[in-house]
Amino acid sequence: MKPTEQLLNEILDEVRPLIGKGKVADYIPALAEVPASKLGIAVCYNDGEIIQAGDSEEGFSIQSISKALSLTLAMTLYQPDEIWQRVGKEPSGHAFNSMIQLELENGIPRNPFINAGALVVSDLLHSRLSAPQYRMLELVRGLAQNPHICYDKVVAASEMQHSDRNASIAYLMRSFGNFDNEVMPVLTNYFSYCALKMSCVDLAKTFSYLANKGLPLGAKKTIITQTQCKQMNALLATCGLYDGAGEFAYRVGMPGKSGVGGGIIAIVPGEMAIAVWSPELDPSGNSLAGTAALELLAERIGRSIF
Ligand code: GLN
Repeated sequence: MKPTEQLLNEILDEVRPLIGKGKVADYIPALAEVPASKLGIAVCYNDGEIIQAGDSEEGFSIQSISKALSLTLAMTLYQPDEIWQRVGKEPSGHAFNSMIQLELENGIPRNPFINAGALVVSDLLHSRLSAPQYRMLELVRGLAQNPHICYDKVVAASEMQHSDRNASIAYLMRSFGNFDNEVMPVLTNYFSYCALKMSCVDLAKTFSYLANKGLPLGAKKTIITQTQCKQMNALLATCGLYDGAGEFAYRVGMPGKSGVGGGIIAIVPGEMAIAVWSPELDPSGNSLAGTAALELLAERIGRSIF
């Protein structure tokens, strides 16, 4: 069943009381300034229809949702072995910015959707692209069909000023030989990808390719193969919400990816891509009201991959 705008509005009304029960990310000071009351949702159906409600056209910092885009780009540039010898495919069970497993596992991150893994993927992009930030922007603008998407330079700079942990993760991986480029330029790119400013509508359109066997919205050619699309969705379902991935699978039952800006994207393969935004997070760093909205939506439209 296709969700209606009325259903989306009802769902937002039902989850709104959760606002005040989570915590806006404040370790990136620029993110702490976003009003906690923001709440939006958008669905992009594979036929191109967009259904939306709330603050669905307001741009926000996509943060770790960009990790799915980085991996997509890397998949278009590298053979599978070249990627998977440097980063694993297993859920970490630890916080998104944890370093604990890296030391024990020879600098190989558990998966591409925690910070360590995304930094390795950013390192891969840096090695093969002459202008990685430009290429990422071009990719996202094309997927979202929105030439106005930009990096939020204030957010990127704010994160650079508080980059000790991510820099430490990168240097630790470099000490194990799992980082080919200088750390700082790669970190700069990674923070820019995280600082992409997009709305729920932009995100739902962007991730439509994951609901449509690799075929972007309005495109004639796939961006990744059907097999790669299946692999992405498997990784999103098992690793996309860090140490909250099991809970998200249990409650929502869709491949998904969250970011500390409060956005979450979720995929119903063969049907639709969904994006929600509510800035307050749960202890795992996933949007509290956003997860609840996706749970209600999944239940009301009777969709789950399980
Ligand atoms: N830019 C953030 C960081 O590196 C992304 C974290 C997230 O969204 N989970 O810490």
